[in-house]
Amino acid sequence: MASKKRIAVVPGDGIGQEVIPQAVRVIEATGAPVELTHFDWGAERYLRDGVTVPPDAFTILARDFDAIFVGAIGDPRVPSNIHAKEILLGMRFKMDLYANVRPVRLLDASLCPLKNVEPKDVDFVVLRENTEGVYVDVGGCFKQGTPDEVAVQEDVNTRKGVERIIRYAFEYCNHHTKQDGTPRRRVLMADKSNVLTYAHGLWQRVFKEVSAEYPQIQAQHMYVDALCLQMVRDPHSLDVIVTNNMFGDIITDLAAALQGGLGMAASGNIHPGKTSMFEPVHGSAPPIAGKNIANPIGSILTAAMMLGHLGMAKEASKIEEAVLRAVQEKKTTQDVGGKLGTREAAEWIANSVGRN
Ligand code: ATP
Repeated sequence: MASKKRIAVVPGDGIGQEVIPQAVRVIEATGAPVELTHFDWGAERYLRDGVTVPPDAFTILARDFDAIFVGAIGDPRVPSNIHAKEILLGMRFKMDLYANVRPVRLLDASLCPLKNVEPKDVDFVVLRENTEGVYVDVGGCFKQGTPDEVAVQEDVNTRKGVERIIRYAFEYCNHHTKQDGTPRRRVLMADKSNVLTYAHGLWQRVFKEVSAEYPQIQAQHMYVDALCLQMVRDPHSLDVIVTNNMFGDIITDLAAALQGGLGMAASGNIHPGKTSMFEPVHGSAPPIAGKNIANPIGSILTAAMMLGHLGMAKEASKIEEAVLRAVQEKKTTQDVGGKLGTREAAEWIANSVGRN
């Protein structure tokens, strides 16, 4: 038997503590050959001993683990959110996980807020640049607290960073199909180059160059505002979207709404060939934490994505099929039309996985 894949599990804060153990239970039900190691990084640990992540954590994660499975980090008791920044942005930036991959799939027509939209109409993926842009924390304030105050936040776009995420998008088409098995054939780059002429001028030039290397894939462009309109008006027209860090953050929340809300959305933070990190799109959701009402499906689909990435396609499909059955039979939490609690919804999916 192949050696076990080693997965670091970081449930984190809020509903992360509820949904991640449930997703782990579903992974275990598949019988996937994995070895899980739990880490207690999050607000509780930070408040107890001031540690956000131990100093050598990222080196250990990259060296000793095949993947990282994270819940959510964020807690009102840590208003600065310093621990979230150091844990999540630390993983993304220090481990150079440059491709944030967010599949957007509608599993059942009842979950979509749009009229006359069926599952076949919502099946696209957003690839968000994950290590640059306005997230690099370069900037400052001048004359703070006075009427003459100035605040500057830089948008950093490097040739290397832009090129690798755009190339990732074209390669993604070459290696992935839609749910119905048809190949992915279109890459749409979204920017605001009509206003951000320098930063997004770079995106434009690189997109033109890289797309020329992939003549079999159609290259499209839209300004991000026009894309928002298109996502709502005709999601069927979308295939693979590539965009910068900030726009990716925004449009993937809109995309999550098309698939039934934040509780349904999965994501991976990937650097091909390196230890990558997988997390549900939602945050720690303090208002609903500790009530057994959070939807575990985002985390469960994230677990499937992680297993697929680790070469366990069969186990990943088992999970996806079980989630589809749960949604169709309304064996879900209330946010997506069911009556079950977090644990009970996950238990149903785990049992369903176990039977197949
Ligand atoms: P963050 O700032 O940490 O990224 P966010 O702004 O994305 O967080 P969340 O904390 O994820 O916001 O959630 C916002 C709201 O969405 C929650 O209060 C809750 O109502 C809903 N929500 C998020 N995740 C889930 C879930 N798994 N199940 C049910 N509802 C959810």
